[in-house]
Amino acid sequence: MPYLEVVFNLPLRSAFTYHCRESAEIGCRVEAPFGPRLLTGWVVGHPKAPPEGITDIRDIKRVIDARPLFDHRLLDLSRWLSDLLICSPGEALAAMLPGGRREVDAWSSADEPADGQAYELPEKPGAHRLTDDQSAAVKSIGGDPAGWFYLYGSTGSGKTEVFLRAAERIIAQGGSVIYLVPEIALSHHLVESLSSRFIGILAVIHSGLSPSRRLSEWRRIQDGSARFVLGARSAVFAPVDRLGLIVIDEEHEGSYKSASTPRYHARQAAMRRCREAGAALVMGSATPSAEAWYLMRSGRFKRLELSGRPAGGAMPRVDVVDMRSEKGLFSSTLIRSMSRVLGEGRQVLLFLNRRGFSYQYSCAACGEQLYCRNCTVPLTFHKSRGAMICHYCGSRSQVPSRCPSCGAIEMRAAGFGTEKIEEEAASLFPEKRVVRLDADSARKKGVTAETLKRFRRGDIDILLGTQMVTKGLNAPGVKLAAVLAADAALNIPDFRSAERTFALILQTAGRAGRFRPDGEVIVQTLNPSAPAVRFAAENRVSDFYDYEIEQRRLLGFPPFSRLFRIVARGKNEARVIEAAEELARLTSGDDDWEVLGPAECPVGMISGHYRYHVILRSSRFDRSHRSLVRALDTLALPGGVRLEVDVDPVNLT
Ligand code: ADP
Ligand code: ZN
Repeated sequence: MPYLEVVFNLPLRSAFTYHCRESAEIGCRVEAPFGPRLLTGWVVGHPKAPPEGITDIRDIKRVIDARPLFDHRLLDLSRWLSDLLICSPGEALAAMLPGGRREVDAWSSADEPADGQAYELPEKPGAHRLTDDQSAAVKSIGGDPAGWFYLYGSTGSGKTEVFLRAAERIIAQGGSVIYLVPEIALSHHLVESLSSRFIGILAVIHSGLSPSRRLSEWRRIQDGSARFVLGARSAVFAPVDRLGLIVIDEEHEGSYKSASTPRYHARQAAMRRCREAGAALVMGSATPSAEAWYLMRSGRFKRLELSGRPAGGAMPRVDVVDMRSEKGLFSSTLIRSMSRVLGEGRQVLLFLNRRGFSYQYSCAACGEQLYCRNCTVPLTFHKSRGAMICHYCGSRSQVPSRCPSCGAIEMRAAGFGTEKIEEEAASLFPEKRVVRLDADSARKKGVTAETLKRFRRGDIDILLGTQMVTKGLNAPGVKLAAVLAADAALNIPDFRSAERTFALILQTAGRAGRFRPDGEVIVQTLNPSAPAVRFAAENRVSDFYDYEIEQRRLLGFPPFSRLFRIVARGKNEARVIEAAEELARLTSGDDDWEVLGPAECPVGMISGHYRYHVILRSSRFDRSHRSLVRALDTLALPGGVRLEVDVDPVNLT
């Protein structure tokens, strides 16, 4: 009787043994009974006999795949991921599929034949004549097929063209390319140009694909009929054969780090894959992460630099406005510039990192502030949806007409979000076309791409919104770009907040003057002397990184240490604290690391679960990693408490 070893998308380290009448190769999915449930799992082994002492072996319900989804290289990668991130092998495999762990079951639909798209070599090598910098970069990359490169160049300096030329060379040699972007919805322009340059061999993986379409794209990639894969974070696991190049565009973006278990970073996975495959790795940004800058400085990544704006633009002038002496949301400087720019028939882009109308809804009489019922997070008033919404758990409640605490009828809203900016902009410039783009306005499918397209065409005068308007937007008509509250990111208690603020200002600035050398940028802030604001406004990029890396060194933060963060959560606060304290006790007394905490997380409760964390700061990663694994194995968790492990966290809230 043949046996199968199966792992599941569950936090269980071990594999389970089943009987199976059919044959099922390693890397195939099966449906198997697990307790009272039927679960999808992956075949990871063919043992000769069941483990000793186990007699009650159950039968596989059915074999889902006729051929494996994962080959041995991807299975190796999944084991590496589960070791590094301290998750189960099944959780790692599930995360490697497009759609991630939550949609594993949707993948259970039957195999579908791939669309038989014909393969053609791109006809024209590229649209532009390369600048000298671009040619030099393309040549360097071509000269070292297993090299690691960082393409650093200000916004609009032509990095995309370099990535594409490097990719074309690999494709021409018969290899495959994985091209990562922070978000597909914001890369519409790139998708269009790739479709004309990589005809028939392009696969675009995104969350809008139906599960069966995702599977058929996966098969096209496995078969080698798609050799250029474009996608967000999880596309780093695309099953390409003969990997020749991975590109990571906008390397600094937070979306490359997964926000749920297993919390992998696409950059880390890409480095591993490229090393194993002997492929080149090329990442790029105008505002590298401090870690990447440090690795460039140390020579670990070969630095390639682009300067200037080949499309005819120039870096814009940046004005910092001190909001402490201003009354409204729009400073007088901003209003003057907007009037002038709009009067010239040019466009304005306004950036604010907060959606909703206002947050901090409080009682005018007793000062009681409205918080989410389930989270220690103030509710945000969403005027357009007529509700108070929690940005952490998404719960909605009615806008109160009276203070829930003292019954007074006057409630006061403070702080402002994109909805309020929209209202102000429309009342200041009633004859102009004002459009808001944020997670609320873009809830309907296709709105993002459509809005960005309209803006690029010039059909919108003022576009305002959250990060969605700053990521990679390439609109010729933008003359003025403004950051409305540069402090929003600065005040978050996180060692990366300076880096994020700096990137945000430069990236917003990067949307103005891309095609004409007359861009203008206004940065409104309550803290004009903050180094991140000053260096960004003066476009002193390397000075900023020198400063920031020195701060990190003084404070012992990455890249001078590595962090592990373990969050305990549960409904019973005493037990959560007990678990966090026990973990801190088990991990203390080790010279290789410093134990910070246990402490309540900055967001102490989400969805009714109390949260406490322990942060370990280590100078010897491998040894600390082993000690942590041991401690976690020893830890007896109180009932109802769960642990989340985050290796190299980028977010400490
Ligand atoms: P980045 O990715 O560095 O922000 P992009 O790659 O988006 O910059 O390039 C900015 C603009 O410059 C694009 O419109 C692009 O088509 C154009 N461009 C790139 N390379 C050249 C070139 N060699 N000559 C003319 N225009 C170019
Ligand atoms: Zn909530």
